[in-house]
Amino acid sequence: MYPSAFEYHRASSVKDALKMLADYGEDGKLLAGGHSLVPIMKLRLAQPAHLIDISGLPELGAIREEGGKIVIGAMTTHRAVESSSLVRAKLGLLAECAALIGDIQVRNRGTIGGSIAHADPAADYPAAILALEAEIKIESVSGSRTVKAEDFFIDLMTTAVRPGEIVTEVALAPISTGCGFAYLKHRQPASGFAMVGVAVLLALGKSRTCERARVGITGLAAKPFRARAVESALAGKDPAQAFASAAAHAADGIDAMSDIHAAADFRAELARVYTRRALEMALPRAKA
Ligand SMILES: Cc1cc2nc3c(=O)[nH]c(=O)nc-3n(C[C@H](O)[C@H](O)[C@H](O)COP(=O)(O)OP(=O)(O)OC[C@H]3O[C@@H](n4cnc5c(N)ncnc54)[C@H](O)[C@@H]3O)c2cc1C
Repeated sequence: MYPSAFEYHRASSVKDALKMLADYGEDGKLLAGGHSLVPIMKLRLAQPAHLIDISGLPELGAIREEGGKIVIGAMTTHRAVESSSLVRAKLGLLAECAALIGDIQVRNRGTIGGSIAHADPAADYPAAILALEAEIKIESVSGSRTVKAEDFFIDLMTTAVRPGEIVTEVALAPISTGCGFAYLKHRQPASGFAMVGVAVLLALGKSRTCERARVGITGLAAKPFRARAVESALAGKDPAQAFASAAAHAADGIDAMSDIHAAADFRAELARVYTRRALEMALPRAKA
């Protein structure tokens, strides 16, 4: 199906895009990589009268180190994240997660800002962004604010981004030396989206007990989440003995989704299995 008619506008700066968003109100929509927006426009699930293209804005496309954090511009493509030497060296979890998104065509067009703003419940980045405790910068004509990843994802395809706002950056602290990490997902065979995806960060203490674990899970529920029950079941424990029992809590208190690809019970079991596997993959990478 063709999308309904719209006017195309290429923003010349973030300020220009914000002004257009304010002017067009509910009729305006940002276009980033277009890999989620265009398909839903073709299905006429979205019918914006004005498309505001923010691709190609240099201020949104860079990856830099600033104030002890790695700051990734919202328009940075998945491919640029996957192949950045800075991200690979200091945020290996994010680079590995980006490398598993869709296929090379999707990764060359899709952007980190577009992915998290769209908040597809099966998107990969949210799991890693939660485990890495990222901060998301959001701008509007009246200024900017920063939202923690855990407060950013609110519900199915619903985020903390309000009308008239643009996600401009994602800031992440580098992974501490010696910290193990892993991102694993059960792929939906056609698209590659995560039926369940689990991101793990694991820090060991001197006696090789779990000092700190961060676990982000996507695909299981309407919104991605931090699996705090798993994290606390690991605290102070011997990893080899604790992984299976801790991973058993991956779906605790979660209303698992059911769809044509997987029933809720199956998804919950996938979450438990992939959490254990991700922990096992992170362990040999962790140094006390
Ligand atoms: C075949 C296929 C396979 C895919 N497989 C996967 C996969 O395995 N894993 C995965 O995670 N994703 C997958 N995707 C989705 C892909 O990663 C998308 O690129 C991504 O979800 C959206 O990013 P985008 O830049 O294309 O955003 P767009 O489609 O341009 O925009 C998406 C939405 O976000 C809004 N938006 C965009 N940028 C901003 C911003 N900076 N601030 C505020 N709002 C903004 C837009 O207005 C729109 O509502 C797949 C897509 C396709 C087509």
